Amino acid sequence: MTIHAKNFIAGEWVEAREMAPDLNPSNTDDVVGQFPRASAADAEKAIAAAKAAFPAWSRSSIQERHDILKKIGDEILARKDELGRLLSREEGKTLAEGIGETVRAGQIFLFFSGECLRLAGEKVPSVRPGVDVEITREPIGVVGLITPWNFPIAIPAWKIAPALAYGNCVVFKPADLVPATAHALSEIIVRAGLPAGVFNLVMGRGSVVGEAMLRSRDVVAVSFTGSVATGRKLAATCIESDPMKKVQLEMGGKNPFVVLDDADLKTAVECTVNAAFFSTGQRCTASSRVIVTGGIHDRFVDALTERMKSLVVDDALKPGTQIGPVVDQSQLDQNLSYLKIGRDEGATLKAGGELLNRATPGFYMAPALFTGVDNSMRIAREEIFGPVAAVIRVKDYDEALAVANDTSFGLSSGICTTSLKYASHFKRNADAGMVMVNLPTAGVDYHVPFGGRKGSSYGPREQGRYAQEFYTTVKTSYTLP
Ligand code: NAD
Repeated sequence: MTIHAKNFIAGEWVEAREMAPDLNPSNTDDVVGQFPRASAADAEKAIAAAKAAFPAWSRSSIQERHDILKKIGDEILARKDELGRLLSREEGKTLAEGIGETVRAGQIFLFFSGECLRLAGEKVPSVRPGVDVEITREPIGVVGLITPWNFPIAIPAWKIAPALAYGNCVVFKPADLVPATAHALSEIIVRAGLPAGVFNLVMGRGSVVGEAMLRSRDVVAVSFTGSVATGRKLAATCIESDPMKKVQLEMGGKNPFVVLDDADLKTAVECTVNAAFFSTGQRCTASSRVIVTGGIHDRFVDALTERMKSLVVDDALKPGTQIGPVVDQSQLDQNLSYLKIGRDEGATLKAGGELLNRATPGFYMAPALFTGVDNSMRIAREEIFGPVAAVIRVKDYDEALAVANDTSFGLSSGICTTSLKYASHFKRNADAGMVMVNLPTAGVDYHVPFGGRKGSSYGPREQGRYAQEFYTTVKTSYTLP
């Protein structure tokens, strides 16, 4: 079935003048649908509608917001198989991964339906006799939400749900590569009964729709997930704009996974395979640097190489597939160029990296493992965003920790060890927003904060209760009764 989609602006589905096809990366002959390429004027209309809707929505009852978010979450969960299939078809992660991500999106809406009822302020004593001091949280206004292609439903969910829960109006711009999932999610959101203008979907190019949001005086805050290069530019524009915009960035990673001599070998191998190669390595929390101490290094590399032989790379929708295709030609080109860079830098391509032919034309690539990597090499410093892992040999725990932290990123950091001493020390000293012990660096809960340090994140954390930092603003009121 081919979809012919529209944008949702000011409470109506609106045809766009320009359309673009959305292709299935497992089979480029399969056109998922035709999707709008909105103009700047479309984005401006959406922003104006959101602005007009804000006064009433910001004062809507928390029961109303709770009920709407619950309805959205319930429908996503009820239709998880169908939505997960659509997601896998357009993004290329496996069906199990697509359904898993969809379930997570449903759970996020349900979590924030509860958060609508839990938002609290503080009443504190004043230092001045007779004065009352209250600290309250208020919605911020029209928020622009800009999302990447690699989590087509979960990332929109973890921005849209808190934005609406805390009384803001939304202009949502999904990534160009995954409009079908964004459209399906938006249909569910629209059906849940939001007043016109509260939620707007504007599909189109970042350079057109995104830029229009950044230019607008009426967008007070922008939450962005994507690459460092885009995030950096976007933040600069938000700070320079008048009035300045609140900005939240979630960006790339070069996440280390440390394997110590005392690690359980099977756990170490499974965590690495999961975090480096599943979802085709296209996760910001993927383990792309595997830092291994000398005593276990050779056994680990042998076991991992052996395990990689059994990985099934094929059509994302085919039963039994463990790793789907790369998302598109340009990402595949980037992966292949880093394979060349790694070899030219002197690393050994120990396994994988070949292009694979399957029954349908798609972007299939065997997961690749480099050994003999030095942490100064480009393959150890730059985000590749594909199924490519680099093994770095170190002599002991201290060197492993130093190498793990020697990166301009700081999203997720993992260690595999049976030593409580090293696990505890690593949790305290890993310079990352999230730390995993005997677990893959990718794969997180939906009810707790998500985000990183250094070049990986900027601004308040997303998800869980911490989401209120971005989607509300604090007011301190003093009263002399
Ligand atoms: P990208 O930066 O190319 O695009 C992200 C979004 O920004 C897209 O919607 C795009 O259209 C938009 N955009 C592009 N130019 C813009 C502009 N000038 N103004 C406004 N918006 C603009 O990133 P991508 O390729 O879609 O996603 C991959 C990246 O996302 C990777 O670096 C990955 O690590 C990162 N990511 C981070 C997290 C996290 O939470 N830390 C999660 C997932 C992905």
